[in-house]
Amino acid sequence: MRLVLLGPPGAGKGTQGDRLIERHGITRLSTGDMLRAAVKAGTPVGLKAKDIMARGDLVPDEMVIAIIRDRLKESDMKPGFILDGFPRTVAQAEALDELLAETGIKLDAVVELKVDEGALLKRIETRIAEMTARGEPIRADDNPETLKKRLEAYRAQTAPLSAYYAKRGALLEVDGMAPIPVVETTIDEGLKARKAAVSAGFRG
Ligand code: ADP
Repeated sequence: MRLVLLGPPGAGKGTQGDRLIERHGITRLSTGDMLRAAVKAGTPVGLKAKDIMARGDLVPDEMVIAIIRDRLKESDMKPGFILDGFPRTVAQAEALDELLAETGIKLDAVVELKVDEGALLKRIETRIAEMTARGEPIRADDNPETLKKRLEAYRAQTAPLSAYYAKRGALLEVDGMAPIPVVETTIDEGLKARKAAVSAGFRG
């Protein structure tokens, strides 16, 4: 199973990603997590990405493409993967197409979690409150101000990927406002239906 998870911050990509990797025995690649690890380790990539991420802007395409290119070649990717947070721009999607073509791999689907923007701010505020209560560190970009910036970046740069993948017959749209287990079932059923359609010779 090779999937891309698409959706704005707070849409539930992390929650659904966890469930998908468990059920399908695949690996998740989160460019956000990888960049945060680079920032923490103080690598050259981390040093460049730190302020950009704290502002809520996107880091340069070349940077994330290079990270993903190396990672996709590793052996734990063989059984399948979920890309979470990548691609985030059309240029990144084109680069991913090229990378996959080089390795002869095809995506099974791009799962888009659709959520009302008004709900996102509330979800992030709840997440911050819960993490604070548990004594966990808060992400530098998890605050209402930066969230607005991240949403703007999503709208302007990432939302066009919906049409990009719909055109290729790869898009699976899911209502991310439903309760977590319902979202999970809807994704599963959508993936099954796609698989059946593909093996019957239809696409999209
Ligand atoms: P979320 O989806 O909750 O906004 P992520 O953890 O996926 O957060 O990403 C956090 C930040 O990392 C982004 O705001 C951006 O600065 C950077 N980032 C992550 N993935 C990418 C990417 N594919 N392209 C550019 N920047 C990225």
